[in-house]
Amino acid sequence: MSKETKHTSISTLGEFGLIDRLTKNIQLKNDSSVLGVGDDAAILDYRNKQIVVTSDLLTEGIHFNLMYVPLKHLGYKSVAVNLSDIYAMNATPKQITISIAISSKFSVEAIDELYEGIYLACEKYGVDLVGGDTTSSLTGLTISITAIGEVEKDDIVKRSGAQANDLLCVSGDLGGAYMGLQLLERENEVFKVNENMQPQLGGYDYILERQLKPEPRADIIAAFKKMGIKPTSMIDISDGLSSEIMHLCKNSGVGCSLFEDKVPMDLQTKQMAEELNINPLVAALNGGEDYELLFTLPLDDYEKIKNDPDFTIIGHMTEASEGVNLVTTGGSAIPLQAQGWNHGK
Ligand code: ADP
Ligand code: MG
Repeated sequence: MSKETKHTSISTLGEFGLIDRLTKNIQLKNDSSVLGVGDDAAILDYRNKQIVVTSDLLTEGIHFNLMYVPLKHLGYKSVAVNLSDIYAMNATPKQITISIAISSKFSVEAIDELYEGIYLACEKYGVDLVGGDTTSSLTGLTISITAIGEVEKDDIVKRSGAQANDLLCVSGDLGGAYMGLQLLERENEVFKVNENMQPQLGGYDYILERQLKPEPRADIIAAFKKMGIKPTSMIDISDGLSSEIMHLCKNSGVGCSLFEDKVPMDLQTKQMAEELNINPLVAALNGGEDYELLFTLPLDDYEKIKNDPDFTIIGHMTEASEGVNLVTTGGSAIPLQAQGWNHGK
């Protein structure tokens, strides 16, 4: 658990006192947020826009381990991954609600830290916290987040629009979050054996950040608008590239050829993989939690993105009858396996 200077029991504040403490500084930023925390329900006004809504539920011990995840990072990441789903619809997030169940092992200061991270993400992505619920739990911490966003009807991008011959593209690089997790778990095991051991995390800032502080790709959605691009299909990479490709193919009724040597990976991802004797491609395909955007584009858009370092073309869509294949560096096609990253779901 994170280091705390004070440990005030939540019972000294009570539920209402805690909610008040956590929400008293909120200043609503968005026109669509008409009424926030403080009544039985929030009021939103979206006029002619379409509204997208998504939820995530995170449970201690299943989705996060407080042995090595600071609460502030947990708050930030909880919001970030939820917003990623909104961006994956080509939409803009505007509001979130946060519901928490907390056991008595958490102090008021600990929950303050969690909310510090939550508000940091809200600030960065221009989102209003407009409500939630607070309750107690017998064992650990559970966080449920709902995000609400807006999009013009014609701009919505679903998982289902990919066509044969479309380019398959991804933002950023893959496998880093998984390798960051492996590093944190390795150091945690060492610490459990000997509490005096200092964690050896040096030189791996990038993959640690990928695991502890992922950023949803709001910038990519903005870039699409600027470049006049509307993907034919899109999904965010929460469970690993393989699994997300399978979703696009299934929902769109197409097949796909993914080229092994095109999958973008950072140097630190490869270095950590080598150190731990893991094939970095496996981390990219099945690791998950990278929160990059995977999308398809008509061939005609090739010129628009070919020189953009934010995007990598990793394959192309095919007829469904050709299947979903990984084309290896050697040129052979292997059916892609969707292992996903089954963190208890
Ligand atoms: P109710 O009894 O109607 O559920 P609550 O007393 O739980 O109302 O909540 C009061 C207000 O505080 C509501 O606006 C609710 O959305 C908000 N709220 C409750 N818990 C949280 C939380 N953990 N984070 C943010 N807002 C919260
Ligand atoms: Mg309530």
